[in-house]
Amino acid sequence: MKPSPFGYRLAESLEHALELHSESAGDAIWLAGGHSVVPSLALRLQAPAVLVDISRLPELSGITYDDCGLRIGALTRHAEILSHPLVASHAPMLVEAARFVAHPAIRNRATFGGNLALADPASEFPAVVRCLGAVFDIVGPEGEREVSAEDFFLDLYTTAIEPGEILRSILIPSAPLGTLTAFDELARRHGDFAMVGTAVRIVPRAGAIEDVGICFHSVGATPMRARAAEELLRGRPLDRAAIRSAQEALSLDLDPMDDPTLSGATRLHLARVLLGRILARLAEQMD
Ligand SMILES: Cc1cc2nc3c(=O)[nH]c(=O)nc-3n(C[C@H](O)[C@H](O)[C@H](O)COP(=O)(O)OP(=O)(O)OC[C@H]3O[C@@H](n4cnc5c(N)ncnc54)[C@H](O)[C@@H]3O)c2cc1C
Repeated sequence: MKPSPFGYRLAESLEHALELHSESAGDAIWLAGGHSVVPSLALRLQAPAVLVDISRLPELSGITYDDCGLRIGALTRHAEILSHPLVASHAPMLVEAARFVAHPAIRNRATFGGNLALADPASEFPAVVRCLGAVFDIVGPEGEREVSAEDFFLDLYTTAIEPGEILRSILIPSAPLGTLTAFDELARRHGDFAMVGTAVRIVPRAGAIEDVGICFHSVGATPMRARAAEELLRGRPLDRAAIRSAQEALSLDLDPMDDPTLSGATRLHLARVLLGRILARLAEQMD
């Protein structure tokens, strides 16, 4: 199959990109790394009149750190997430997760912003940024606005980004001192989309868990917070009993659907196994 005919425009600045989009009367899509857009055109899942190439915009580039936290430009490649020292120091869970994202050839081209804007429910980064309480910096014809990770992922492949808006950067707020994080996933083969993946953030205080965030991917339409499990862990030491009750509570948090590759019950079981492994790892670090 070949794509429907489409036009191509290279944006030279953020302002220019917004202009090009408005000239298309809404029938344009952004092109960043192209690793999802191009296959979707080839399969005719999308047929826009024009692709607006935003891949060279300096306003969407760069990784910086200040009092607010770590700011990652939307055009940051997955490979840079893996290798950038500021990401390693201030958001090591992103580095852990990036190792599971596709393969080096894909990671050299695909962008962090493109990944989050796509909001594939099987994707690693959405779960990590939701777990870390990220804030999305979005620019559009009406100006700029910030959206919290809690409000960003709306449904399957659907985010709070409105047509004509661009995700400019993502802020990962500074974490309290001593915060521990871990990410892991279960996939049939390394590099495949995961059967289940989990991002966990713990703030330990005096031998107990003061605060915790748990977010799964590949178990629902969006990255899923495990609020019942979090509630059971808060204020308790991270011992075997606490881990077991958090695992049990997942039936309140997750209700994965059956699909041709895996039953919902198996996916829930795998989520429990993975959560148990990650919490046990974090418990060792708390000792
Ligand atoms: C073989 C293969 C294996 C993969 N495996 C994995 C995997 O294991 N895990 C995983 O998470 N991902 C995986 N991916 C997806 C990949 O990691 C990227 O997430 C994906 O290609 C999107 O990034 P991109 O820069 O290529 O975006 P594009 O394809 O350019 O764009 C994707 C979508 O986001 C929109 N968009 C892009 N940038 C912006 C922006 N700044 N603001 C607003 N909208 C924007 C585009 O219009 C489009 O709708 C895989 C991809 C391939 C091809």
